[in-house]
Amino acid sequence: MSEIQASLEAAARFITENEHFLVVNHVNPDGDATGSLLAMGWLLKQLGKQVTLVNEGTTPDKFMFLPGAMGIENADAVKEVTSHDVVITCDCADFSRVGRVEDWFAEGYHLLNIDHHPTNDLFGTVNLVRVDAAATAEVIFDLIQHMEVELTQELATCLYTGLLTDTGGFRYSNTTPHVMQAASSLLSHGVAPGAIAERVLEAITKPHLELLKRALQTLEFTDEDQVASMTVTLADMRETGAAGEDTEGLVNYARNVEGIEVGILYKEVPDGKIKVSMRSRSQVDVAAIATAFGGGGHVRASGCTIHGSIEEAKKRVEEKVSEALQEAGRRG
Ligand code: 5GP
Ligand code: MN
Repeated sequence: MSEIQASLEAAARFITENEHFLVVNHVNPDGDATGSLLAMGWLLKQLGKQVTLVNEGTTPDKFMFLPGAMGIENADAVKEVTSHDVVITCDCADFSRVGRVEDWFAEGYHLLNIDHHPTNDLFGTVNLVRVDAAATAEVIFDLIQHMEVELTQELATCLYTGLLTDTGGFRYSNTTPHVMQAASSLLSHGVAPGAIAERVLEAITKPHLELLKRALQTLEFTDEDQVASMTVTLADMRETGAAGEDTEGLVNYARNVEGIEVGILYKEVPDGKIKVSMRSRSQVDVAAIATAFGGGGHVRASGCTIHGSIEEAKKRVEEKVSEALQEAGRRG
């Protein structure tokens, strides 16, 4: 049995051998995290299991159209925490990504870790981690096939949304033949591609637009115009009425400038911290840089959180980015 088959088998066993599941995705969930969480919910319910779906905070508005999204609990809003001993994490590269949902885990819990981040540190009792997958939704698609569970429209819609968002609308280099095969199969199970793309890729909120106007004014080019960075402060968030999800995609404006290798967004968050988002074009491993600051992600898209002011975070990150650029230059 190949390693992939063995991990699919172990994950399937984890599911069949248990009855009550707590399923969680990562803090500030994106389309893949939300789609994967909901897909696991539908899969488990189809198998007759009891399921609780939870996130540390609220699910972004733009994913509320997904079937089952109303049923995701907001850990922040729940006063009485119930503890669970069987847990499944979706799209979480390391344990800290579950955030305060950690308080919902019983002592001695068993955990199935389903993910696709190369920086995943295999924190599960069982790990279904495929770093060659474009999305956690793709890993779950394979699990569903492996378990010979029927694809319903609900499942297909959730999985398709994960694939669509983590491949940037089937544009990034992670758009493999397997991704397209999975998408094709999902489309034949009732997915409405136009409506989903409109909702999760095209539609922009007014606060996002206001933030963009401000962020563009902070755009700064360094390292001989190989790096472009932007900042968003707590005041920007407050004054534009933006929610956390409204900063999504801003970093691409920096990275997409012709000739830029690394695009960075420094976003001030509460408690004296800066959330750093990094994107690279073709040479710099931004996952390695994020990991150096306790974060993680993918080679071309990563993030981390740094204590201090925007200026301090910038100084620390830019030093590492410059080193990485020099290293890439030496490699040619
Ligand atoms: P974003 O910049 O959009 O928040 O995240 C880009 C990628 O990096 C995503 O795959 C996301 O899961 C990952 N990522 C972002 N922040 C963190 C973090 O603090 N820790 C880890 N391990 N991954 C992160
Ligand atoms: Mn993902």
